[in-house]
Order: sequence, then structure tokens, then C-alpha cells
Amino acid sequence: MDIEKIREDLLKKKAEILESLANNNSEDLNEKSGVEDAADVVTSEMSRETLYKLSQAERETLFYIDIALKKIENGTYGVCEECGAPIGEKRLEAIPWVRLCIDCSQNEEIQKSFSNKSDDMGFYHIIPGTIEDEDTGKIPE
Ligand SMILES: [Zn+2]
Repeated sequence: MDIEKIREDLLKKKAEILESLANNNSEDLNEKSGVEDAADVVTSEMSRETLYKLSQAERETLFYIDIALKKIENGTYGVCEECGAPIGEKRLEAIPWVRLCIDCSQNEEIQKSFSNKSDDMGFYHIIPGTIEDEDTGKIPE
């Protein structure tokens, strides 16, 4: 793994994001000073919404890039935060700021979707006392 190249990629991506954040901010300023008719307001609201969402994701990426750069300094780069296993080289090349190995990121996805589901089906938690409580703790057949 070429850590110098990865560091360059991270710094490049960081610069790109910072640039686009700066562009977003200057567009906001232009919108406030400009006079628009109703149709323009609608489109600019929509695009601002899109920009806002985009910059949210970009800010998050920026955060992860900084973590990755710190890890390169510490010599802990490329190791899964969850299980400590080395993250695949191809995975790191695709997303240099990735924090989890492929297994753990899949587990995280599953846990996310599971917790969303259990929120929706909260009534399942109301089901009273399991049978385990009543006898020796063995699951009956
Ligand atoms: Zn892992």
C-alpha cells in the first residue's frame, strides 16, 4: 500500500471539499443581496436545499479525512476501528477515509436497519416475561 499516495488523495479530496464549501457560502451571500422573482426563489430554495445536503455529507467526509490523516501520522492507518483487522487495499483506494473493514461496515448497516425496524415495531418489547425466567434458563423445545 502506497501510504504517500493515499495521503495525497486525502489532501486533494479535502481541498476539493473546502473549495466547494467556499463556493456554497459565496452563493448564499449572492442570494441574500440579489432581488428575485417568485419562480427564481423556488428554484434557488431547491438548489440551496440540495447544496445544504451535499455540504452536510461533505462536512462529514471532511471529518473522516482528518481522522484518516491523523491515523497516517500515528501509523494506525488502514486498520478497522471496530475489529482491528486490516482494511482491504482496494477498499482504501476506493474510499481512502474509510474507517471500518468491509465486514464491520456491513454489520453496521445491518444494525442500523435492525434498530430502525425495532423502533417501528416497539410493541414487540412489551411482550411479557420470557419462559426462560420461569424455569432453569433452558430454552424449551
Ligand atoms: Zn472490522
